[in-house]
Amino acid sequence: MSGRLPAVARTVVDVRGGVARARAGGRSIGLVPTMGALHEGHLSLIRRARAQCDYVVVSIFVNPTQFSPGEDLEAYPRDEERDLALAGEAGAHLAFLPPAPEIYPPGHATTVTVAGLTERLCGATRGPEHFSGVATVVIKLLNIVAPDVAYFGQKDFQQTVVIRRMVADLNLPVRIEVCPTVREPDGLALSSRNAYLTDGERPRARALHEALRAAEGAIADGERSPVRVLAAGRAAMAERGVEPEYLELVDPDTLAPLDQVGGPALVAVAARVGRARLIDNALIEVPYQSAPNPDLAAGASPAQSDLVSIPSIPPGPGRTNAGAKQPCSA
Ligand code: AMP
Repeated sequence: MSGRLPAVARTVVDVRGGVARARAGGRSIGLVPTMGALHEGHLSLIRRARAQCDYVVVSIFVNPTQFSPGEDLEAYPRDEERDLALAGEAGAHLAFLPPAPEIYPPGHATTVTVAGLTERLCGATRGPEHFSGVATVVIKLLNIVAPDVAYFGQKDFQQTVVIRRMVADLNLPVRIEVCPTVREPDGLALSSRNAYLTDGERPRARALHEALRAAEGAIADGERSPVRVLAAGRAAMAERGVEPEYLELVDPDTLAPLDQVGGPALVAVAARVGRARLIDNALIEVPYQSAPNPDLAAGASPAQSDLVSIPSIPPGPGRTNAGAKQPCSA
């Protein structure tokens, strides 16, 4: 690795100082919040930020409040030197690496809770406290850095929905940009937790991506029943001997389960493979099919085959969900 290293700030005062100097020079600010152990997924966010903003801040903070007791807080991979080199190479100007008491000083008592959305999917298994931890640390980082744009990955789709809701509800003056999922050549979504997979477990981790593709394939073949679409996904996982923690077809805005596929849909999956808890998702666009209009002459409705537009999840080195609904911004 070569290239320049970002400046490092470990305190709120220092990071604000760096940002203030950039602002004084008329520069726009982008923020990429991470928990470190950086990989191509994180770096794609930093590059996007660098392409859109003049000054890029990357935060690296393993946020204790989003881990439940018994989860992998202690084991979570950490490699500060490598992270700084990679962040600098991708274009970060400033890395914010606060020790935990800088973010949660003694007496810290305020948390942000986004109701409803946080009880579904990962919230149902990890508990809604997980997303309170996420929302609280994100709003703190937004308040500390005050960026023009903050960047998040579609891989953590529910997190992006929760954050966009919080930003809208609390009138936060920031644009949220969601970037596509970066995958391994075989389709596995990059994740810091992939480091937990043993060589023997690694092929089984493909089950998540394969479930999404199977569900997509069922919809592309005309299946509109979520039960049957999800059965196709479960069958693909069973072939790898992986049991989903959840596999759901939900509305991408509300995360509520769909009772029919007829518009935008999100297939979301979580599963444990060995020590690693993995998640993945795919956005599927099925143009809304209205009931036949009795006022229209027979044959005036578009043919069924014209109505379905299915994005694919092409695997490939450093590739993204090229066909999927692309970065939504809010
Ligand atoms: P994390 O360090 O896992 O908390 O992730 C920090 C940010 O990187 C979050 O916005 C994630 O959604 C995003 N991210 C993680 N993995 C990927 C990936 N494979 N592709 C794109 N973004 C990702």
